[in-house]
Amino acid sequence: MLKAIKFGGSSVAGAEQFARVKAIVESDPARRLVVVSAAGKRSGDDHKLTDLLYLCHAHLTYGVSCGDILAQIRSRFTAIREELGLRWDVGTAFDEYCATLSRDTSQDELVSRGEYFTARLMAEYLGYDFVDAAECVLFGFDGELDREKTEEALREVLRRHDTLVLPGFYGSLPSGRIRVMSRGGSDITGALLAAAADADVYENWTDVSGILMADPKIVPNPRPIAKITYAELRELAFMGASVLHEESILPVKERGIPLNIRNTNRPGDEGTMIVEEVAGEAESERFLTGVAGRRNFTVLTVRKRDMRGSEELRRTLEMLDECHVQVEHITLGLDSFALVASSAKLGENLYHIVARIHRDCRPDDVQVQDGIALVAAVGRKMTFRPGISGKLFRALGEQGVNIRTIAQGADELSIIIGVDNRHFETAIRILYEGFAG
Ligand code: ASP
Repeated sequence: MLKAIKFGGSSVAGAEQFARVKAIVESDPARRLVVVSAAGKRSGDDHKLTDLLYLCHAHLTYGVSCGDILAQIRSRFTAIREELGLRWDVGTAFDEYCATLSRDTSQDELVSRGEYFTARLMAEYLGYDFVDAAECVLFGFDGELDREKTEEALREVLRRHDTLVLPGFYGSLPSGRIRVMSRGGSDITGALLAAAADADVYENWTDVSGILMADPKIVPNPRPIAKITYAELRELAFMGASVLHEESILPVKERGIPLNIRNTNRPGDEGTMIVEEVAGEAESERFLTGVAGRRNFTVLTVRKRDMRGSEELRRTLEMLDECHVQVEHITLGLDSFALVASSAKLGENLYHIVARIHRDCRPDDVQVQDGIALVAAVGRKMTFRPGISGKLFRALGEQGVNIRTIAQGADELSIIIGVDNRHFETAIRILYEGFAG
């Protein structure tokens, strides 16, 4: 049994959290491959090291002293060293690094030091080997992650090290320069390592006991999802429910490695298991895996008698694409079509878009309705079961929630409904309480 495990920033925020990580690692001999983020917030008003490092770089660029911020970062590292009685003199190593900083220091190199120093401290504390991600997480000349080369390099690393700590979030370009991923990228590093090692499971330790069935700001104490498929997770994440970096899913999904989200502060909780498929489930009235949604969408309706064919729709979609507006849904009628898109995105170009629709499509009428919220009811148990949408719509209707748009993919994994913004929270609560909780 081999587990690749990744700890997020809040799980390595200080000495106390380091101790929790050690207890988790030591409680299971399969936990041999560890990835860490940079130390995160210890409390609500604290700062993530990565944020402080980005701030330092802005100061350097404008020639403003960042001594205070560097001192704050230094003291986070030295406190961990002192409280845990580690030997490595992180203070001096950090000072030496700071002495190299100048206006020309690359932003990526500077911010990657959060993960680098955190991982070196963790490696000593666990008694595992430290491996620098610059050696084995490799980007191509185009700046994109080179998955093939990375896998080869990681396999080589795995031949040499039985137990290791790898800093997340960064790697190197063919020139040797450091390159960071997008924010939250340590999830990706963990997935790459799990895939290269053909691990039995990829554990992603964070500060929640898994993915919740609904947003806790809307539904009081929603239950965590015990099992979810990768496909369902994509639907929920698309609607704004996210605990994982989206790109971290592919490497493990391709290999059929299950991904387990766990809570460092409650290691006894089983968390959420994300798998390719769940077999042999009993039917139940609780057929939703989760409910998520977002506010502030706009419906753009174009009417033209005898439109016949989709020329007008094609032109409108092209125009939206040129303006970088992503369309969430399309509904098509004989004499009209309606598009749903984010109001913020559409808003920047609305007059231009409406004017062009008038010019290029010669419609009878164009209507713009904003203030729409999209709510996604997601669940593998809905698939091929008749009567499900009827139940959902009845429950909403009975409580006075008017449905403005409806979309269901042919895979029947999710039903997405548009409601007025003011009904957003009520709709989520009704769906959760009736069919998920
Ligand atoms: N430390 C980086 C961030 O704050 C990467 C990560 O945490 O995964 O985004």
